[in-house]
Amino acid sequence: MLDIKHTICPSCSVGCGLNIVSKDGVVVGTYPYKRHPINEGKNCLNGRNSILQFEDSIKKPSFVKNNELEESDNESIIKAIKDQLDSIDANELAIICSGNNTNEEIDRIIKFAEEYGSEKIGFYGYNFPNFFGDVASYDDVYNASTILAIGDIYRDNPLLGRRIVLSKENGAKLINLDDVEKSITSLNADEFIQFKDGEFADKIDALKDQLDENSVIIVNKIDSKEDFALIEGLSKGANAKLLPVFNAPNSKGAMNRLNSLDNDEIKDLIDNSKVLIVVKDNLLDYLSEDDIKGKSFIVNISNEKNRFAELSDIVLPGKFWVEKSGTFTNCEGLEQNFSISAECENDNLSEIEMFDELA
Ligand code: SF4
Repeated sequence: MLDIKHTICPSCSVGCGLNIVSKDGVVVGTYPYKRHPINEGKNCLNGRNSILQFEDSIKKPSFVKNNELEESDNESIIKAIKDQLDSIDANELAIICSGNNTNEEIDRIIKFAEEYGSEKIGFYGYNFPNFFGDVASYDDVYNASTILAIGDIYRDNPLLGRRIVLSKENGAKLINLDDVEKSITSLNADEFIQFKDGEFADKIDALKDQLDENSVIIVNKIDSKEDFALIEGLSKGANAKLLPVFNAPNSKGAMNRLNSLDNDEIKDLIDNSKVLIVVKDNLLDYLSEDDIKGKSFIVNISNEKNRFAELSDIVLPGKFWVEKSGTFTNCEGLEQNFSISAECENDNLSEIEMFDELA
């Protein structure tokens, strides 16, 4: 029997609705959530393909020996992690969460860290600092007279890109700033500005006369927290609204709860810990193998089959987002609930259950 359940797309922070189609309890496809106000009946390919993460994923809790995963069971793995935690001082534990965790999971993990006594907890924010200022809404984007897009919004956040297209049809001017030679956004921009190493500050400064209170600055890519401060300065100086957009669905929720760490801060955590718990993140997306290897005992909570899993000591697959409920906060700051839309096919613990067990 076919069944359709509403959920929230896990592939970026725009927060589109997505329908999960199951047949006899097995997920077989996706379909745009037609009445959802954010995506207005559409999903991009990244969103439509979100369920492909089921394919070739890690199914069983495993110990890792010589880069090979050896399947085990929840009980043995939880005991092994507890033994590690019992053998170290509280400040020798570090936890790296991610924007792929739900708000409820992050709250549970923070409580665990507090009770254990470790203050070494944060998430990798892709160079965005914690940002608590007002953000532009998608309606602001639609109604803007000038949009400054920093990064390739059309490619990485297509349903927000669609708002920009509609805004352009409404008469808005699109300026695109990026360090690449050409991108989908640049090809559709009225003005494309490419910057090279060391030029970002000057390019930002030169834009101040083009923006005003009817402008929106959208940014999904920056090289450093200092660069974000320049963008924030431009936004304040011109009275333009600002919308930081992230590649993970709940980066904003993570940012509201945890320190957003950059590469050096993450490396520092790793160098100064004996046990490192990483929850739904792939450290090799932003660190090198040398930054990780042989430094601490790594507990990798993730279903992703990748090189980072091979470099970990324990891999504990959690539940997929369709197998659990919770909330994601999108880049606009909107907190959206989602419920279980597919039954878990194995006995994997949810992230909350894992930290309940470890506590
Ligand atoms: S724009 Fe982002 S949230 Fe929307 S469908 Fe695409 S990947 Fe999912």
